[in-house]
Amino acid sequence: MTSLSSSDTTLSSSLRENRVFPPPEEFAAKAHVKNLAEYEALYARSVSDPDGFWNEVAQELHWFKPWEKTLEWDLPWAKWFVGGKTNLSYNCLDRHVENGKKDKVAILWEGEPGEVRKLTYGDLLAQVEKFANVLKSLGIRKGDRVAIYMGMAPELAVALLACARIGAVHSVIFGGFAANAIVDRVNDAQCVAVITQDTSFRRGSQVKLKATVDEALPHCPSVKNVVVYRRSGADVTMQAGRDHWWHELAEKVEDRCPAEELDSEDPLYILYTSGTTGKPKGLVHTTGGYAVGTYLTSKLVFDLRDDDVYWCSADIGWVTGHSYVVYGPLQNGVTVLMYEGAPNCPDYDRFWKIIDQHKVTVFYTAPTAIRAFIKWGDQYPLRYDLSSLRLLGTVGEPINPEAWMWYRDVIGKGRCPIVDTWWQTETGAIMISPLPGAVAAKPGSATRPFPGIVPEIVTKEGEPVPAGHGGLLVIRRPWPSMARTIYNDPERYKQAYWTEVPGSYFTGDGARKDEDGYFWLMGRVDDVINVSGHRLGTMEIESALVAHPKVAEAAVVGRPDELKGQGIAAFVTLESGNEPTAELREELRKWVAKEIGALARPDDLRFTEQLPKTRSGKIMRRLLRELATHGEIKGDTTTLEDFSVLAKLREQDE
Ligand code: ATP
Ligand code: MG
Repeated sequence: MTSLSSSDTTLSSSLRENRVFPPPEEFAAKAHVKNLAEYEALYARSVSDPDGFWNEVAQELHWFKPWEKTLEWDLPWAKWFVGGKTNLSYNCLDRHVENGKKDKVAILWEGEPGEVRKLTYGDLLAQVEKFANVLKSLGIRKGDRVAIYMGMAPELAVALLACARIGAVHSVIFGGFAANAIVDRVNDAQCVAVITQDTSFRRGSQVKLKATVDEALPHCPSVKNVVVYRRSGADVTMQAGRDHWWHELAEKVEDRCPAEELDSEDPLYILYTSGTTGKPKGLVHTTGGYAVGTYLTSKLVFDLRDDDVYWCSADIGWVTGHSYVVYGPLQNGVTVLMYEGAPNCPDYDRFWKIIDQHKVTVFYTAPTAIRAFIKWGDQYPLRYDLSSLRLLGTVGEPINPEAWMWYRDVIGKGRCPIVDTWWQTETGAIMISPLPGAVAAKPGSATRPFPGIVPEIVTKEGEPVPAGHGGLLVIRRPWPSMARTIYNDPERYKQAYWTEVPGSYFTGDGARKDEDGYFWLMGRVDDVINVSGHRLGTMEIESALVAHPKVAEAAVVGRPDELKGQGIAAFVTLESGNEPTAELREELRKWVAKEIGALARPDDLRFTEQLPKTRSGKIMRRLLRELATHGEIKGDTTTLEDFSVLAKLREQDE
């Protein structure tokens, strides 16, 4: 175990992962960035002349009027492409239609019951123009906030792009949230309208979206209109004067709606964070810089090409869906696959069936999904031909090296590079990730920074921490797709992100950098465990547990301990077919001690069938910590996925 420097914000690190996977030659030969030297030259250029670098990227997009200045920076307030006029919907649609892609499929959608719809770039543009006119017909104007509460239907993408087209600010609320989450978010942003649908299909049943909106709206006085897309034909109540059918309004408006010439800094959307560490924050993203950041990261990290069928399995309710289902890939003109439902409906093989049937080439998902696939068993992916895949990606949490290896071997058959992409709602776009043709992967590492991004590992005082030691992950310079503020709360924005470490953007994550300059995310700083003066990140202990053949998933938290300051409590779910026994508990405690050192041995290890997670699939350690410490939970649980998990954990505690 590496010993600690004196500063109280560095982290002890002990897990060593030595496997390295260089980009497959065939992949690299065709990639946008073909080798390490090219990546390093690009990176060096991007940080020695950031304005020149970003100017060149921005020129690949359409601007109605060019910008006068690349960046205006008055910490923490950034303005990018100052004075420029552009429009995201134009860059996602019109630009491609004008360039011969009118008949190319933009969205390839599969409903959970099995129906397939294909919308070409021409179709999508026509629908977006129509719906933009619908919004206008309701009096919605540039700057108005519009809440969107829908399932994964093509119309959801249409709704976002129509708002972007007229300069209305969308606020997407994940379709799995309950009414109280709608109330909080709609009121916070004072939304004037809600776009929803009757129901959507999920795991064989119907999610009653419109009914949930009806439950919320009596508490939302700012909402004047509700537009309802008819997806399933289920019965819904329509309130006269307030509620309108999408298709009925569409019949009454013009077809054409030219894209509004928006200022580069006009707000594009508000989006609330996942709530993993506390109450969600409403981040504001603006137009020009966000366009540039999502465009370039999609192009280089997913190495997008004209013939790709690209599938990001995230819901559009999360930032990953905003940047990498809608804005990034559509700006790159590829075919985007969208799937409405659950991965285990009707059977555990649904994702692999979709990949086989639609010949998906790039697949981007989350570690939580990968751990579920592993738990369900290899027989499901093995039923299908996955040879169309050429690149795999992950995002959302640190990926345990063993899960990474499974993804590589069982899904990628050892042929496909994996991009482990680190970023946040706040960053708008990917910040740390391999460029798949250029940077060799190490399982569990997000590897190296994206061009133009300057991350560093520091102490609380902002002093760099030497290679191999953990510390706080910060970003040293502004970047185009950064959030500009928290809606209506600039002070909180400044406090949360720009005062913790003077002069830098504070991510809230702990990480270390190895001798090769690779970044290893170690967990949330809020979740750090302090054992006898050693500060441990959660990730390494969890990964050691997951590396045990019987363990599917693990979460560790600190709880008060008179002798050591904090003790370690571990919550473990087992692979199917294994019994939770006292012997196994002992074996796992010893296993951790052997893998990474006696200091990391859990004092308390509990088996559970499930871990508490956010709706976006992230482990909510703060709830486990409360439970391990006080035996009860008082923190914000509005974004919790399944409340019965807590009840079951509590029962064990008694
Ligand atoms: P909140 O900020 O409300 O607590 P959240 O941080 O979960 O919620 P997001 O913006 O969706 O909300 O998630 C960003 C966080 O997810 C990162 O700060 C990091 O902790 C984690 N994360 C995302 N991608 C990766 C990755 N590839 N490796 C490690 N961690 C990741
Ligand atoms: Mg966060």
